[in-house]
Amino acid sequence: MRQLDILEGQFARHETLPREAVLKADLLRTGISFDEGALVRPAGDGEHPAKEHQPKSYFIFSFDMVRQKQLDETQKWHAPEEIALTGGRWNLRRTIVSTRLNPASPYRVAPHDGALWLHVDDEPVAEVGLHDLPPYYRAKLPDGRPVAEIAPTIEWGYLLYLTVFRVCQYFGAKEECQFCDINNNYRQQIQEGRPYTGVKSVADIVAALEAIDSSGSESQAYTITGGSVTSTLQGKNEVEFYAQYVEAIENRFPGRWISKVVTQAWPVADVKRLRDAGAQIYHPNYEVWDPQLFPKICPGKTRYIGRDEWIRRIVDAGEVFGPANVIPNFVAGVEMARPYGYTEVEDAIRSTAEGLEFFMSKGITPRFTTWCPEPMTPLGDANPEGAPLEYHLRLLEVYRETMQRHRLAPPPGYGEAGPGKAVFSVSPFMDVLEGVAAPA
Ligand code: SF4
Repeated sequence: MRQLDILEGQFARHETLPREAVLKADLLRTGISFDEGALVRPAGDGEHPAKEHQPKSYFIFSFDMVRQKQLDETQKWHAPEEIALTGGRWNLRRTIVSTRLNPASPYRVAPHDGALWLHVDDEPVAEVGLHDLPPYYRAKLPDGRPVAEIAPTIEWGYLLYLTVFRVCQYFGAKEECQFCDINNNYRQQIQEGRPYTGVKSVADIVAALEAIDSSGSESQAYTITGGSVTSTLQGKNEVEFYAQYVEAIENRFPGRWISKVVTQAWPVADVKRLRDAGAQIYHPNYEVWDPQLFPKICPGKTRYIGRDEWIRRIVDAGEVFGPANVIPNFVAGVEMARPYGYTEVEDAIRSTAEGLEFFMSKGITPRFTTWCPEPMTPLGDANPEGAPLEYHLRLLEVYRETMQRHRLAPPPGYGEAGPGKAVFSVSPFMDVLEGVAAPA
């Protein structure tokens, strides 16, 4: 069956979901490829310099379905961070999608009629826009490292993504989360020669933000994140390590950006310390809800903290930040990954819906990232096709219904919600929340 027919069948089957969200879910789960002519621009002349687009920064994980060495040089170095889809066969409202490279994908971007178009089964279906290179992407730190590597922008200019520790101290198959390629991706990027700083210093981050602020950047939020610190890093424990960045940024640029932190779930005293450093939004990601799957998929987190304690800490953090500002992520689709996961979509949805109900009944709104089956992970290797599109669409419906039932607003720190407005690029959850009302 042609991909186009599958897609149009799903539009009809899930008619309350915006078509933009259905297509975005499928693009994120299957990836995309780019023809060389889509990425290499003709050189400009003196009068009309060539426009450059913002390239993929590999801001934390690879988020690709193949290894770097399987990519041609053009895609490896010039693939865009994100694409914006508009118009075309379905008259799409602007839809921002993170680039996940997969040369075997049925989705391909190629020139057509003087513009770039998304092709499905070789048929052009939507116009593709690329984000212009932000002016600060050409700036360098005094030691020559690109500011863009220290502080890339994602979400169409909305979010500065500050991965300050590019590896995780959960190491190897017995500890790393089974869907996560942070350590393998770090190794492959170094091998490929991409500038990729393992531990960014506080001074690096502040210097990069100086350059960004003075460039007139329209970014509205930043995220401080990185791998877990199970012992110490540079003589600091995990909370000391991550809080120092927030403190330094907020001292230098008080309130300039919405401040968000993604780390493990910490005891309440540490959570208070993070809030006191200036963090506004806390993301203690729980990854997968199912009590049988959590220890298999997150063995390190299970060994060091444990699922029940992890969940308790998320709830307690709501007392510190306010429940709306605690936004734990889960990796949508890993609960269907072989060899551990559910085989039926409705069983997987029932489990995940239970987790949504648990948190949302307490005013905590989880959010999700669409699982990218990266090949250098145990789950990606065993499940290169990811989770079925039907799962991702049922999840969007259940997520929206559960939020509406609890009268919750879209989570803060993601920009506007709704088709044509959402900028969150690694999941379509913000694209379906139009009309989801805040409590009266
Ligand atoms: S805790 Fe798990 S998801 Fe987070 S960086 Fe480490 S291995 Fe990856």
